[in-house]
Amino acid sequence: MMTYGYKPELSEGAIKCPIFQTSTFVFKTAEEGKSFFEVAYGLRERGQEEELGLIYSRINNPNMEILENRLTLWDKADDCAVFESGMAAISTVLLEFLKPGDLVAYTSPSYGGTDHFIKQFLPKLGVEHVCFHPDQSREEVIETIRATGKGDKLAFIYVETPANPTNTLFDIQLCKAVADAFSTEDKKVYLCADNTYMGPVWSSPLTIGADLVLYSATKYIGGHSDLIAGAVLGNFEVMKRVKTLRTFLGNMAGPHTAWLMLRSLETLKIRMDRQCENAQKVANYLNTHEKVSKVYYLGLIEEGTNAYAIYKRQYNSPGAMISFDIVGGEKAAFKFLNNLKLFKLAVSLGSTEGLAQHPATMTHVGIDPEQRKQMNVTENLIRLSIGVEDADDIIWDLQQAFEKV
Ligand SMILES: *Cc1c(COP(=O)(O)O)cnc(C)c1O
Repeated sequence: MMTYGYKPELSEGAIKCPIFQTSTFVFKTAEEGKSFFEVAYGLRERGQEEELGLIYSRINNPNMEILENRLTLWDKADDCAVFESGMAAISTVLLEFLKPGDLVAYTSPSYGGTDHFIKQFLPKLGVEHVCFHPDQSREEVIETIRATGKGDKLAFIYVETPANPTNTLFDIQLCKAVADAFSTEDKKVYLCADNTYMGPVWSSPLTIGADLVLYSATKYIGGHSDLIAGAVLGNFEVMKRVKTLRTFLGNMAGPHTAWLMLRSLETLKIRMDRQCENAQKVANYLNTHEKVSKVYYLGLIEEGTNAYAIYKRQYNSPGAMISFDIVGGEKAAFKFLNNLKLFKLAVSLGSTEGLAQHPATMTHVGIDPEQRKQMNVTENLIRLSIGVEDADDIIWDLQQAFEKV
């Protein structure tokens, strides 16, 4: 994460990759320009030793390329594309893999922006959708898709796990089996996983059946609450499609954002390890607190359950996102949030500082109240993103805020 893909000799010996704040690149000769374009536009395959020539920063840029190369290592992917936001990554993938008449199946609950794009925008292109839920078996999911009468049009399955804000788990292998059940000789159903909550360090969906994995890199990958970005990874075949559409939508990450992420990657694992270590202590503290009626945390899933089996199969850590029900409804929840000193009252997650928010009136306010209740998003629920601060300081902060309630 510190040196891979960067050659100091190409940058005056600079130990760190400088920011290539440039829109375009000068060709040595017209022949070189011609040759670069042939590869970039797919007119000929890139040679074994040949690097993609630098042309124009919408197509490629050293900061973007080095970042993408480093990100492929975590997910064991062939290639990566970085975007100017998580939503840019998500919308580009959905636009590339769906066409008028197709059906997309996706997990509910999903991130609000994803849900909106699928439900409100894709129908304008003639793409229909169907949701499935974490308690459904493979047969039930298949039946739900068949019941739409458009099973033969299923083109894409989109899974977000663990689901926000209650850490509900979806089984990626189950989704893969469903994708296979609807794939035919001439039509493959692609499976895509939003790994923002647990990746790239704690989970690798590509190794257990996903064709594409994507991130809001705004969260753990960026990790300092100072940038908005996204990333998509997969094999050469799918990434060629994603990168080509990105070139024409023009929604790639800029050089400065890519440079910030290169800095972030150096501490990614250290940050995530520390955040998880802290989260386990915080979850145990909350779990015994008299003003807390329930804690939603992967590390507290009961052994022997189906959720536990999925947890062990998909993740190598319980992560650093915790939600809990405070006793006393919205009034108690707001009193608690307003009295936090170290935690910042803000949405987003995965950053070095702890963040706290109230899903029912903030991130999940757009969801139908009945569905919100089904998801356990009540007025009692508080979501915490655990940071890298000292665990004793974090628990001290929670303790003093509880005392005000
Ligand atoms: C934040 C988030 C997104 C959207 O990413 P942006 O970078 O805000 O565009 C998508 N999925 C999940 C799970 C997220 O948390």
